[in-house]
Formats: sequence, C-alpha cells, structure tokens
Amino acid sequence: MASDAALLHVEERIIMYRSLKMRIEPDSEQRKVIEASFRYHCYVYNALITACKSYHRSNGRLPSQFDLSKLCTRIWNNCPFLHGYLYQNAMNETAKRVLQAFSKCGENRRRMERRNRRKSKGKTDKENTELTGSPETGLACPRFRKPSRFHSYTNPLHREVFTERNGRRMMKVSKVKGPVRCYNQKAPVPGIPKTCTIEKVDKGTHTEYYACLSCWDDIERRRGDEYLSGRSLDAVGIDMGVSKTATLSNGTVYGNDHLYSKLLDLFRKGHEAFSTMLPGTPGYRKARSRLNHLYGRLRGIRRNNVETISRQIVDNFDIICMEDLPVRRLRSKSKGKRMTNAYDDASLGMLRRRLIDKAIEAGRRIILVDPRWTSQVCCGCGACVKKGLEVRTHVCPECGLVMDRDLNSAINILIWGLTGNPFPERWDE
Ligand SMILES: [Zn+2]
Repeated sequence: MASDAALLHVEERIIMYRSLKMRIEPDSEQRKVIEASFRYHCYVYNALITACKSYHRSNGRLPSQFDLSKLCTRIWNNCPFLHGYLYQNAMNETAKRVLQAFSKCGENRRRMERRNRRKSKGKTDKENTELTGSPETGLACPRFRKPSRFHSYTNPLHREVFTERNGRRMMKVSKVKGPVRCYNQKAPVPGIPKTCTIEKVDKGTHTEYYACLSCWDDIERRRGDEYLSGRSLDAVGIDMGVSKTATLSNGTVYGNDHLYSKLLDLFRKGHEAFSTMLPGTPGYRKARSRLNHLYGRLRGIRRNNVETISRQIVDNFDIICMEDLPVRRLRSKSKGKRMTNAYDDASLGMLRRRLIDKAIEAGRRIILVDPRWTSQVCCGCGACVKKGLEVRTHVCPECGLVMDRDLNSAINILIWGLTGNPFPERWDE
C-alpha cells in the first residue's frame, strides 16, 4: 500500500523543464556589458527590497508579484540609464527572486523560533517572547546584496538564442552586442529555451561566465516510447548507504570512494596558504583560485559518480525500487566528522534526485519503499534480526542465511516494492 502512494507521488511530479548549462566566453567589450548588467540587476534587487519593506510597514503584508512588476515599470521609466543593459521583463525575474528571498527568510525565522521554543520549554511565556521576539513584530528581511555578491540574473527568452558563425554555435546574450562564443558545441538543446540565466563564478585570478538555459520539454509525449520495447521486465532494488554508495539486488556494488578524505591534505594546505595571505594581493587571488579549483574538482568527481551510477541503473532496469530516505536527517545524525564527509561523498540526495529524474524521462517505473526495517529483516525467511550499524554481515539464526548486510536490504527493498511493504507501521514483537 505504502509503495502505491509513493508511486503516485512520483508520477505527479513530472519534470517539464530541463536545463542546459554551458560556459560562455565573452570578449572584453561584451564582458563590460555583462558586468554592467550584473551591477544594475543588483541595484534593482536592493531597490525592490527597500520597496517591500516600506510596503510592509504601511500595509502589513508583502507586495505581490504583480505589485512589484508595476513598480519595476516605474523604475524602468525613471531610470533611463538601465535601458542599455537590462530588459524590462528581466527585472520581473529579479522581482521574483526578491519575493523568494523574503519567503525563505520568513521560513528560517519560523524554524529558529520553533527551535528556541523547544529549547526553552519550562520557561514562562513572557520569557519565551523575550527570547524569540513576538511573531507580529518586524518582518524577516533578506540582506541587501553587494555587487560582488550578486552572481546571476535571468532573462526571459522570446527569440532564437543560438546563431551560427563559421560552423560554430554562438549565443545571443541579453543586451550584449554580437554573438558570444560558447562551449558545449555538441550538446543538444533539450526542448524550447524559455529563460536564460547568466551566472558568474569568481575563480580568484579570473572570472568564468556560464549561461543556463531552462528549456520547456514535452516529456508526456516522449514518455513510454522506450518503455518495454521488446524487453522483459527487469526489476531491481537499490540500497543506498554510506559505506557503499549503492548496492543492487543482483549483487552489483557501487563503492564509496571517500574522496574528501583523500583530498584532505590538499584542502588543508590550500586553506593554510589562503589564511596567511593579505587580501587584495596577487598571492591572495592565486591562493583563492587554487582553492576554488580544488573544490570544483571535488564537486565534479562527485557529480560524475552520481551521473554514472544513475545512468547505468536506468539503462538496465525497467522497475526501480528504492528507499524513501530522509537524507538530510540521516546526515545530521551521523557519528563524527568522517561519517559526515562520507555522506557528502556518497551524495545520496543527488543520486536519488537524478535517479528519479532520469527514470521519469526514460519512462521507467520508480517505486519508493518505506526505509524502516529494510536492513533488519531477513530476506530469506522474513525473521527480524536486529543489528547495529557496525554489523556489516547479515546472519540469520532462523534459516541460516549469511549475506552482506546491504545486499540483504536491497533484496528486501525489491520484494517489498513489488509486493507491498508487509510492515507498514511497526514491528510487533
Ligand atoms: Zn532467515
């Protein structure tokens, strides 16, 4: 029963947007325009935050997107210096971000208040109010951004983005004159591009620019084309964990490479060098560049692992059963730094997300299983064999089955995913 509900939950979430991120290489003139666009978007962002504050003071609530759009039009009419660098409807996208920032700040504040209330249980209401501030007073407000901390802006697209020049694909970027050189020449555009987000990454010694196209893709239409094309149904159960990133029920194991621990010395050295440098000097920029590249390498390898594993699983199996894991909560309960790093290296959340995305795209069926008891129950006879996290081998006293712990739970996940979880509530002893 549980698995059916979970399946519905996944099927409802049909991704319609797919993105393509590519590095762009503007020349020095184009870079000036892009930098100015960043500056002016930042200006608009800060102006809108101020506007939201004063609106809240007089009306007691935040303005809607529509109110902000009207305000954007007024800003546009009063500030002719913006016209050379922004589109008017790009300002609406920035307005959207302002509202998102406000709602996120509100959420954070509410979470903090809940935590404080939990901590100060037993105190009187008055003391609690002093501790957290009463909920009515004040608005949780995002910070103003410095131009150096403003990294991206979004343009809606209404025209063709790409052009050809000498057989190379070139890109048109907002108000920038002329086409901009871009990387990823061979990557196909996944659908109709709707928005283009320009992003900059400060590497210390230089700045890299990226364009992220968000494309509308009709997945409904393509779904199921590939599905069950002359193949028998292959089902698989996946157990995800820290010691091994993923264990499949057919015995395939994807290990955890503990990358961070391997690179730890390099990170230490990098941070040491960075902390001794004087800000603003060439040495400082160089050290920062080195650190940024190191973190980029870590991110890249982790991402590559996730993409490889999820691609292999989705290509080989039609029905994929996996645990409905609360990854963040698991990580917060980990014992010690090493284990937390191992969680990060395994990137379980990203793996889960990519598996679901790829499976939906290819028309595979994903079944999420309640993660409770998957590792404790014997897959041979169904007896409950309790064991702690440190016991890596499953030994069943009832039927004598000896098996790797993760393989046992992968098989359980497969069986429960196909037939329904026999223990939806709790093990009754
Ligand atoms: Zn057994």
